[in-house]
Amino acid sequence: MEKKRLVYLDNAATTKPAAAVVEAMLPFLTEEYGNPSGLYELATGNKKAVNQARRQLAALLGCDHREIFFTSGGTESDNWALIGIAEQLEEKGRHIITSSIEHHAILHSCDYLKKRGFEISYLPVDEDGVIDPMKLKKAMREDTILVSVMYANNEIGSIQPIAELCKIAHEKGALFHTDAVQAVGQIPIDVKTLGVDLLSMSAHKLHGPKGVGALYIKEGIKLASFQHGGAQERGRRAGTENVPAIVGFGKAAELAKERLAEEMKLGDATEQQRLRDYLIRRVLTEIPYARLTGHRTQRLPGNASFCFQFTEGEALLILFDMEGICASSGSACTTGSREPSHVLTAIGLPPEVTRGSIRLTLSHETTQEEIDYTIEKMKEIIAKARSLSQDYADMVKRWKKRL
Ligand code: PLP
Repeated sequence: MEKKRLVYLDNAATTKPAAAVVEAMLPFLTEEYGNPSGLYELATGNKKAVNQARRQLAALLGCDHREIFFTSGGTESDNWALIGIAEQLEEKGRHIITSSIEHHAILHSCDYLKKRGFEISYLPVDEDGVIDPMKLKKAMREDTILVSVMYANNEIGSIQPIAELCKIAHEKGALFHTDAVQAVGQIPIDVKTLGVDLLSMSAHKLHGPKGVGALYIKEGIKLASFQHGGAQERGRRAGTENVPAIVGFGKAAELAKERLAEEMKLGDATEQQRLRDYLIRRVLTEIPYARLTGHRTQRLPGNASFCFQFTEGEALLILFDMEGICASSGSACTTGSREPSHVLTAIGLPPEVTRGSIRLTLSHETTQEEIDYTIEKMKEIIAKARSLSQDYADMVKRWKKRL
């Protein structure tokens, strides 16, 4: 049987593990199985491998390896940063500021803290999904202990002015955390230049394995433990290390650093950015009632997200899948839920527009041919979906009457 064609355009949901990542992990899934806490050679080799991965991540972020703490993924890193700082500093203040477009790992941690007596302020975003730093300045209070703003949005790709926001938080004596799960490995990040105190990341968004992440904790920042048990991660995160995954994460970070350095040397927009812009341009000019969501230029290099009025995002996804195209509607975590995306609502879009949201996210491996195929199929699929839409038929009728 002929193999079904696959065009993978859902890299914000997860990425394909790089071959070199899988290769690096394999020995730790087979013969190198020692527990890194052991004192014999089989174990100490694993401890060394974990620390090498810590150095590979530190090199990607421009920090000291002792500032990297491994976790089970972006969700745990976000929970730990917010709840850990809240518990550590509750005597100082109980006010936390975040944004209205954060991932649920942040928003639901905030809901939990609210129940524990913390007050949360949510910064609005403009129609491009970007925060105005003046809004943060106004929201800061004497009892604000933490500001948490995501580096780049997972649905619409907009990038926030993190260094500027961080400076404002620090001027008022608050700490700054950023959920950089979507940004690490995609764009150059130097934590020292940014000035952030805490930064969350996740391996599976940069061609590493799933179920492993890390939290950067700036030297000197005190943070309550989130998991209680053994003395792993220098007593700050208990639990036997997931050595194969951590090794894979380290390799993925090394590969990302090499790729970003190569791209910086070339100077111009990367091939991924060029393809993203080509896709955006063709969709906006060749498909009627299409709208780009997120900032036009200040966005992740692989993110092209749209709303197609008079369609249902979920129905489009099924039709895309039949053509071998993997995409998502809004965030993968909210797909399946009937609620309109909180991100698209926050940028001011009404439900009749957000209903037809589609997110296409490229990787550095996406090809021109894949994008051309996707555009041609999208044109057919959207026309087909609209031919079944009563709202679309009514709109066409109204137009015809006016002519
Ligand atoms: N934060 C953001 C911005 C994300 O996009 C995601 C995953 O989609 C997460 C956090 C959660 O990361 P993980 O899947 O590693 O738990």
